[in-house]
Amino acid sequence: MAATAYQNIIIGSGLGGLTTAALLAQAGQSTLVCESHSLAGGAAHSFERQGFHFDSGPSFYCGLTDPASGNPLTQVLAQLGESLAAIAYDPLGHYHFPDRSLPIYRKLADYRAALAQVTPQGAAEFQRFEQRMLHLYRGLQGLPLTELRGDWKLFPQLLGRYPRELLQLATRLPMLQASVGQIMDATVQDPWVRRLIDLECFLLSGLKAHGTVAPEVAFMLGERDRTTIDYPWGAAGRSSPPWCAP
Ligand SMILES: Cc1cc2nc3c(=O)[nH]c(=O)nc-3n(C[C@H](O)[C@H](O)[C@H](O)COP(=O)(O)OP(=O)(O)OC[C@H]3O[C@@H](n4cnc5c(N)ncnc54)[C@H](O)[C@@H]3O)c2cc1C
Repeated sequence: MAATAYQNIIIGSGLGGLTTAALLAQAGQSTLVCESHSLAGGAAHSFERQGFHFDSGPSFYCGLTDPASGNPLTQVLAQLGESLAAIAYDPLGHYHFPDRSLPIYRKLADYRAALAQVTPQGAAEFQRFEQRMLHLYRGLQGLPLTELRGDWKLFPQLLGRYPRELLQLATRLPMLQASVGQIMDATVQDPWVRRLIDLECFLLSGLKAHGTVAPEVAFMLGERDRTTIDYPWGAAGRSSPPWCAP
């Protein structure tokens, strides 16, 4: 079939392209996905060497098996009627610092308890930081990510369907635009905890707290606390939808 015969052509088979293509196909639109690499999945694929499987990119996931999760991948898979087998685990891992290691637990109360063994004062300050982040997360939670779109119709559509949630979000506008660093500066002085927050940001965005936007970390901390941390059976390549096998 010639490319011009398709209603939609998507360049790139990363998670973004694949999920968009799948939703379009589900809506009955003929869709072509073009990929320049030899594997589908973009950053999210796996490769094998000598019988071992390695992730090329993402390896931390939240809520893959929890239908109530805000993870957009989970939401899209649910909309498509697809499921992904995954294994829940906790702690997420251990962060190794020159002076000691810290287990990173899913539940913020457990996270804070581990932190209190390093610095009780820092853990108390972290709780203030955490409360602000969770306040923002609760505001974001009301709007399903799959409802968001890139054109001007988004606002009237959200206003019609989610007036209360939009209002809640409006009260958090300054935080929506803040960096994590600004919130950290207002709540945390302890140098050990500041370095930990910098590390959490770096692992998420590749930048430290002052270069990372607050909603990103609010969403990560909130989802971690509320839902599962899990890993797809068969490595990250499986998180690319199964119908995209090359
Ligand atoms: C090292 C690393 C670790 C990460 N860790 C995590 C994590 O633990 N948890 C998490 O949730 N997220 C993580 N992420 C982020 C997550 O992987 C990405 O947000 C997501 O996979 C991006 O998907 P995408 O579709 O936007 O883009 P991409 O995955 O980059 O896909 C773009 C695709 O387009 C193709 N392409 C580009 N140009 C063309 C062209 N001209 N013609 C044809 N094809 C083209 C590329 O080959 C690629 O396949 C990580 C990312 C990286 C790189």
